[in-house]
Amino acid sequence: MKKSLLLLLLGLSLFQLSAKEGMWIPILLEKYNLAEMQEMGFKLTAEDIYDVNQSSMKDAVVIFGGGCTGELISDEGLLITNHHCGYRQIQSHSTVEHDYLTNGFWAMSRDEELPNERLTVSFLEYMEDVTDKVMDGTENIEGEEKDKKIKENTGRIIKEAKKEGKYTASVKPLFYGNQYFLYVYKVYKDVRLVGAPPSAIGKFGGDTDNWMWPRHTGDFSLFRIYADENNEPAEYSPDNVPFKPKKSFPVSMKGIQPGDFTMVFGNPGSTMQYWPHQAVDITMNQRDPDRIMLRDKKLDIIGNDMKSDPKIRIQYAAKYQSISNAWKKWQGEIKGLKRLDAINKKLAYEEEFKKWAQQNNTWDNKYKEVFVAFDELYSDYAHYIKAYDYYREIVLRGVEVFGQARTLNSIINNIENGQTERAESMRSAMLKRLSGFYKDFNQPTDEALFAALMPELINGLDASFLPADVVETINKYDQEKLIKKVYRKSVLTDREKLEDLLENGSEKQLIKLRKDPVIELFNKLNFIYEKDIISEVRKINKSIDENMKVYMAGLMEMKKGQAFYPDANLTLRVGYGKVEGYEPTDGVEYKYYTTLTGIMEKDNPAIYDYDVPERLKELYRNSDFGRYEVDGTVPVCFTASNHTTGGNSGSPVVNGNGELIGVNFDRCWEGTMSDIMYDPEVCRNISLDIRYALFIIDKFAGAGYLLDEMEIVD
Ligand code: ASP
Repeated sequence: MKKSLLLLLLGLSLFQLSAKEGMWIPILLEKYNLAEMQEMGFKLTAEDIYDVNQSSMKDAVVIFGGGCTGELISDEGLLITNHHCGYRQIQSHSTVEHDYLTNGFWAMSRDEELPNERLTVSFLEYMEDVTDKVMDGTENIEGEEKDKKIKENTGRIIKEAKKEGKYTASVKPLFYGNQYFLYVYKVYKDVRLVGAPPSAIGKFGGDTDNWMWPRHTGDFSLFRIYADENNEPAEYSPDNVPFKPKKSFPVSMKGIQPGDFTMVFGNPGSTMQYWPHQAVDITMNQRDPDRIMLRDKKLDIIGNDMKSDPKIRIQYAAKYQSISNAWKKWQGEIKGLKRLDAINKKLAYEEEFKKWAQQNNTWDNKYKEVFVAFDELYSDYAHYIKAYDYYREIVLRGVEVFGQARTLNSIINNIENGQTERAESMRSAMLKRLSGFYKDFNQPTDEALFAALMPELINGLDASFLPADVVETINKYDQEKLIKKVYRKSVLTDREKLEDLLENGSEKQLIKLRKDPVIELFNKLNFIYEKDIISEVRKINKSIDENMKVYMAGLMEMKKGQAFYPDANLTLRVGYGKVEGYEPTDGVEYKYYTTLTGIMEKDNPAIYDYDVPERLKELYRNSDFGRYEVDGTVPVCFTASNHTTGGNSGSPVVNGNGELIGVNFDRCWEGTMSDIMYDPEVCRNISLDIRYALFIIDKFAGAGYLLDEMEIVD
């Protein structure tokens, strides 16, 4: 009897350990996670992951650009991240003549590495719980006064931490402001492109395979960080030297087995695990469907134009990628939330909470009003967020000339307000960026977006969110006329004239642009967006957050003793789990890995995303796999049960010894709702097997010299 009870308990604990929800804070690992991690196969200490006094893994991980992760793989500043994270850089260096998107790019020596304007990598110097400092002096005040004090305290903490500009710093609320953490970064600004496989490898399977398993994408690119002679950050200069990191990851050739411990160490962007049911409802039944519908239209137009002309394909590749990425995720998210019956699960949880609060007499005088507030706030929120989503998808991120109109508008505002210097600097910045803008701009595509999306805005929204005369204009014309009467009349469609105006135009001439049809239209729309939409959304969000703070504290009290992780906020977190496959639907079992053989099976020269490069086929035909061969093929991707999200793209995936076994790049379709609700049964992160990256660098690209700087462990 005893034995079977023990077995049952063991079975239970194994089951619980089979997949692990959570994005954990590195400085709290010892307290909450280490024992479990070690039980699952982690062989190192918490200090090996995060230590401010000695080098640790955190010194080999960066925020790459604005929202990805990258990791150091040599002591000469070599960094690996995803192909999709370096995509904008690869795309911006590409032309029809030098099409690095299609053909890949490999620097065969250091001086061939390509600098990237505005690309940065940020190293976390340290993080600190500053809750007491932030809340200092707020004990007896409420409302605006309290907000002001918090802001003041936060400002002071950040200023001190920056050490006169040596670092950047931010203070972020955790658990909706029940805690505050300070994050201090050193930011390097000279980051050069070293290598990228062709898209037919790095983006293999394209949007069809995106968010899917089985997956065969070699989603990596290589960059090198450069520093000044003191190893400190510096603007780009040919005199800069490769950065010497405090730590880089050893690269493992040992491979993986099912059940192996895995850890993902990166910068997950945002999650909403503690949302009440109303928020889940609005997301799955309103926001996701609205945005999917609008993006359907954009993707249709851009996609067709891309197919028609290789130049347009290059121009719009990065834009298309970023539109389609979330578009596809939202579709998976809706499915997953439905399958989980997420709203009812949340309702049941809220009921449990209510009972708990009633039992300890906190319902009537504390939490009841929070729940009432949620009902009211979210009903307002649904109304305003619809307008917000439409405006963002159409005016702010849809029609591209609106972006130019926005900049010109600010220049004019500054002129009119007597801010001549500011206006001048914006003017020259715009002038500088003009060639970059028009390099990737195809007017007929943008016109088609304009003509298709403006009516959506007018028809989709309540009249109170629209300027009456704009509605009238849009309704008056058919698509072709609309383009002729409004779009083509704008100076923004005449590059030379615009350039001339920015270079030589008088202030008066610039002010006159207020009457430009596109700028005028943009202004009218933007006026409403700023005054009636975004300000309301912010106000409601603030109230929601205030209520969430109370609810969150209650949740943590109800489950006292249970470790909670704060929602992701693009800061360094640890996710841990195991190498494992999953069952996507009844009767189907997915393996945990894919191989080069699968790439050959998917080969289809007629489809851009599946057109396997000849050189890769040749290597396969000749079984020329070198040291990367496993069972007559080469491993490509694998799945594991680490809780990840956007921002974890490019994160190192390490084994129990802290050696790099993969680069995280995606999640599987059935688990894309994990930002809102995690399901250990089907939520899997997808990683590139590092051996495939080495194989591509070495055998495919002939850039094996790069491997010489890595510490490869067999
Ligand atoms: N592929 C994802 C992204 O776009 C990564 C993820 O969300 O898991 O960021």
